[in-house]
Parts: sequence; structure tokens; C-alpha cells
Amino acid sequence: MLTLLKLLKDGRFHSGQALGAALGISRSAVWKQLQHLEAELGLSIHKVRGRGYQLAAPLTLLDPAEIGRLSPTSNWPVLVFDSIDSTNAEALRAIERHQAAPFLVLAERQTAGRGRRGRKWVSPFAENVYYSLVLRVEGGMRQLEGLSLVVGLAVMQALRELGVPGVGLKWPNDVLVGQKKIAGILLELVGDPADVCHVVLGVGINVNMQMTDEVDQQWTSMRLESGKAFDRNRLVAALGEMLHRYLARHQADGFSAIQAEWEQHHLWQGRAVSLIAGANQIDGEVLGIDSQGALRLKVGGVEKVFSGGELSLRLRHDS
Ligand code: ATP
Repeated sequence: MLTLLKLLKDGRFHSGQALGAALGISRSAVWKQLQHLEAELGLSIHKVRGRGYQLAAPLTLLDPAEIGRLSPTSNWPVLVFDSIDSTNAEALRAIERHQAAPFLVLAERQTAGRGRRGRKWVSPFAENVYYSLVLRVEGGMRQLEGLSLVVGLAVMQALRELGVPGVGLKWPNDVLVGQKKIAGILLELVGDPADVCHVVLGVGINVNMQMTDEVDQQWTSMRLESGKAFDRNRLVAALGEMLHRYLARHQADGFSAIQAEWEQHHLWQGRAVSLIAGANQIDGEVLGIDSQGALRLKVGGVEKVFSGGELSLRLRHDS
């Protein structure tokens, strides 16, 4: 089915006969595959009598060679999937198969994309970036400290570099424009964090997505914010170069070297918030983060520090 899509991706008309000949299948088999493309991948295909078939809009698919050309410094081996359950899940399987890290897993779509605490990440075909970078971490906890905040900062800077206005951060690792989520981050770890382990840096970025009724909170995309479509290969390359730079700083100098820059971009600095931890809620005012990336809140006049993957921050309505 994707071979057919690759023939159509230029956005020009192709006759059923020419497509059938290229694929070695009948014209009616071509027509069936086209119906599948529409139904399964949500693509819109024009059919015009006498001219053939045309994608409603030309499509640029992920291309490892192009990504490699545009990101000479990071240049990690790239595995690209047309469709996968989740790039993080595939990255974890690749670690089990002893694939040598660092490496990058990308997909055109995810059928079971995931967020924190088993939540779903909406991942339509060829519209967004679904990205999992695998690193081997040796020598302990310091290299993991604040890591998800560092990834958020690198994502934010990559979006800014490509001209998306108004992007900022929300502790611990959301990337927002105003109140709307434009990217999500999910770190997963295997092995012994005190010795040798692998960490999967999972990133989902809404790139050209303009419509979905599946996301149950406010969201946006690079295209919605800037009014133009983006080449996902350029974004993957820009993100790779940015991550390379920030991860090197983090590794050399620790999170404390990045703390001030992160705080500078925190959209909720000084705001009245509720911190949700399961059934518990703590109300306070955001003071900032500490040198390990933990959240500093003023609660009842006293500073308290919170960290951990199970925490969520919400703005208080009275703030
Ligand atoms: P928290 O606010 O607790 O940090 P979150 O709601 O941001 O958590 P994540 O795990 O980061 O949770 O992301 C999962 C959530 O993001 C989903 O529950 C859904 O509300 C939202 N979501 C899912 N897909 C997308 C998408 N493509 N773009 C924006 N938001 C999405």
C-alpha cells in the first residue's frame, strides 16, 4: 500500500493503468489499495475520469538520507517505520535486540502512541514527528538528573529556530504555545540507573496537523501557529542538532548549568498552580526549579520541592 503512496506523493495525476503497471497489479487492485489508503491513513485522493488519481496535497515522507545530510553533527543511525505501535516501544525492543546506541527511531504514524501514565498520544500518518532517541548512559544518576527538562528545552529551541513563535515550557516536560500543547515528551529507562542503562528520549511534535477531534486537551501545531507547512525531515535534523548540543552541555556540566535557561522559558513562573499527585492536590505558587530540575513551590508561605514522574501541574483558575 505504501509503495503506491510513494508513487503518488508528488501530488500529480497518475493513471490507474500506469500505477498498476508500476506495481504489477490490476487496475481494480490499484483502486482497492487507494480506498485503503483513504480509510486507513486518512488521506484524501482525487479521482478524475480520464486523468487518474492525485493526492489532495503532495506529501514529503521521512527520509533518513535527507535527515543525515541536514544533521552532520548528530548523524545517528535512523530507523524509519511506515507504521509502528509506538516509537518508544520499538526503541525498547531494539535495546533488547542489542542494537548499539545511540540510534533514532522514527515513524510516519503510531497506532498506540503513548504519553505519561499510559495515556495516548494521537499520531496521524505523515503529519507529525514521532521520535525516539536511544542513549546509553554510563556512570550514574547525575546524567539522568533533569534530563527530561533538557529534552523539553531542546525541542522548544528547535521549534523557535524553525520560526514557530511563542513556544515555551511547562514543568516538567511539556512544550506549549500559550496554553496549547504542541509537543510531548516521554522518557523511559531500562537497566540500572546507578550503573549502565539505556534511556529512550521520546518526543512527539505536532507539525502539520490541522485537525483532530481525538485530543482531549488544548493543542496546536507548528503549522497552526505559523501559517505554513513544515518539512519534517528538516525538523528532525534541527532537533537532532539541538539535542546533541544540549545533551553535551548537560553531560559535561550537569543540569545546574541549564537551570537558569530553562526557568527563563518557563511559562508558569510565578503563577498560582495546583500540583496533582494521584488523588492528592497541593496548591502553591511556582518559584522555579532547583539545580536537579525539581519544582520549587511556595506552599502556605514555605518553599517546598517536588520531583518525580507522576506529578502534573495545572493552573489555578484564580491565578
Ligand atoms: P501533564 O499535564 O500531567 O504533564 P499531559 O496531559 O501533558 O500531562 P502527557 O503524558 O504529556 O500528559 O501527554 C498525554 C496527553 O496529551 C493525552 O492525555 C492528551 O490529552 C494529550 N495529547 C494526546 N495526543 C496529543 C497530540 N498529538 N498533541 C497534543 N496533545 C496530545
